[in-house]
Amino acid sequence: DFGVSPQAGDEERVVESALRPHSLHDFIGQPKVARQLALVLEGAKRRGQPPDHVLLSGPPGLGKTSLALIIGSELGTSVKITSGPAIERSGDLAAMLSNLGPGDVLFIDEIHRIARPAEELLYMAMEDFRVDVVVGKGPGATAIPLEISPFTLVGATTRAGLLTGPLRDRFGFVGQMEFYEPAELQLVLARSAALLGVELTDDGSAEIAGRSRGTPRIANRLLRRVRDYAEVEGDGRVTRAVAQAALALYDVDDLGLDRLDRAVLEALVMRFSGGPVGVSTLAVAVGEEPSTVEEVCEPFLVRAGLLARTPRGRVATEAAWRHLGHPVPRGGIP
Ligand code: ATP
Repeated sequence: DFGVSPQAGDEERVVESALRPHSLHDFIGQPKVARQLALVLEGAKRRGQPPDHVLLSGPPGLGKTSLALIIGSELGTSVKITSGPAIERSGDLAAMLSNLGPGDVLFIDEIHRIARPAEELLYMAMEDFRVDVVVGKGPGATAIPLEISPFTLVGATTRAGLLTGPLRDRFGFVGQMEFYEPAELQLVLARSAALLGVELTDDGSAEIAGRSRGTPRIANRLLRRVRDYAEVEGDGRVTRAVAQAALALYDVDDLGLDRLDRAVLEALVMRFSGGPVGVSTLAVAVGEEPSTVEEVCEPFLVRAGLLARTPRGRVATEAAWRHLGHPVPRGGIP
């Protein structure tokens, strides 16, 4: 499925790994998180200890996995990767933890989706570098404590508030990832174009950056599609005209909204007269999970000034009515 969804499929992950930055120096944007993280890592290196556990929060595609890998390479240790939904039994997690070498990084993506028993095992591992392995069942069950190597957990989540309090409290550093500015996305695009051997003009990259929803993953994906167009229909150079023609062909509008974003706004405007409406009702109207609408769609719609979250529910802004090409209701927006 081509689109501007900020989530990546498996194939895309393979393509992406070629474009990943490998050091903090290579990492573009996120000045605040990058600076804070550089201090955390440098302090730990000087003390010769693994750094505190790190939680990275923010919408998909902003570079959380890239940063986790960078933490490993800056520390010169290896990174083991897993995800909350992939850890089905606490035994799986115990095995993973006991296989970590001293100072290794364990990256758990979507950590808010980890099963409760595994989460409880993680508490002790994070705090005391120890896990209790339960042997036997019922009243005769015994917990055998097992030492594990000191390690650094890097957790990623779309919103820190989705974690339980006890889990969140065990992270020494929480980095809040922000959407990228167009100028930063242009730097990401220039770097990717060089790696892919694509000739990209300044106005071509401005055009792509403006439609990338503040997200490097989307910028890189649009660049790959525009490159196809440039090579097949043109001389291979990505100029503004080429980018515009290619993106129009792929239905990426000038704000970069995808089908789901537009469906959410259309439903809000046409079925609920612009709101306010609750997020669950809105999600049912577009046939999606409320969490997808809330974690994946809304952050960008809010930032683009198209949707507002109010105590009574979601409201379409005047800009949303205009963007969809509908007349703004007389009397304005409630
Ligand atoms: P998800 O949560 O969906 O896994 P993510 O936030 O972990 O997403 P990444 O996989 O790290 O995002 O990044 C997606 C792609 O975007 C990477 O392949 C990388 O090429 C690019 N990218 C992300 N951040 C940056 C950056 N700061 N500089 C250059 N490229 C970046």
